[in-house]
Amino acid sequence: MTGKRILLVEDEAAIREMTAMALERAGYLVSEAEDAIQAERLLADGVPDLILLDWMLPGSSGIELARRLRREEYTREVPIIMLTARSEEDDRIRGLDSGADDYVSKPFSPRELIARIKAVIRRASPEQGEGLLEVEGLSLDSHSHRVSANGQRLEMGPTEFRLLQFFMAHPERVYSRSQLLDMVWSRGSFVEERTVDVHIRRLRKVLADEGYDRYIQTVRGAGYRFSSQV
Ligand code: CA
Repeated sequence: MTGKRILLVEDEAAIREMTAMALERAGYLVSEAEDAIQAERLLADGVPDLILLDWMLPGSSGIELARRLRREEYTREVPIIMLTARSEEDDRIRGLDSGADDYVSKPFSPRELIARIKAVIRRASPEQGEGLLEVEGLSLDSHSHRVSANGQRLEMGPTEFRLLQFFMAHPERVYSRSQLLDMVWSRGSFVEERTVDVHIRRLRKVLADEGYDRYIQTVRGAGYRFSSQV
């Protein structure tokens, strides 16, 4: 069970169902959309770890949707793999131009698709992989779950740790409370938005010992941002 969430956007029901089944068997949580409108509706409820996007969709094409997702702050960083029935080099390049991270030509084997998904997710989320995250003397080690500032160990709760990990992996960007809930808290847990404020407060308190609390910045009317700039 990888627990990774994949949004599958494909209008051909047979391909969609077959693909979803293969992904679920491999441990992914799959949500399905048959066009761009449905996809955007699902994205409004939460951002997945990866989007599998069919090139040819009725209405708004896969490329148009990919471009839109790249423009939106909320979805800018979600990796996209394009599914395409075409093999022309031009199309491939246009697909990568549109902001797709990779492409897979149809027909594909589930094994090939899953290998590509794993590679793209690994590239896109170093914070869940090897990564030691470091910003100006503040460092977070995902493996040992240790945080230190100027060489001093900082002790914090698991939620504060995940929150800091997320912030350090996505600096200089504002996230609303509901986006933070989606991305840091486990899905399905019922948490109110003000819970975010509680954990932000705790995190700042821990970071304040070494003067790093100012990195967790409140952006009025928008949410929070991690930044080493004042
Ligand atoms: Ca199609």
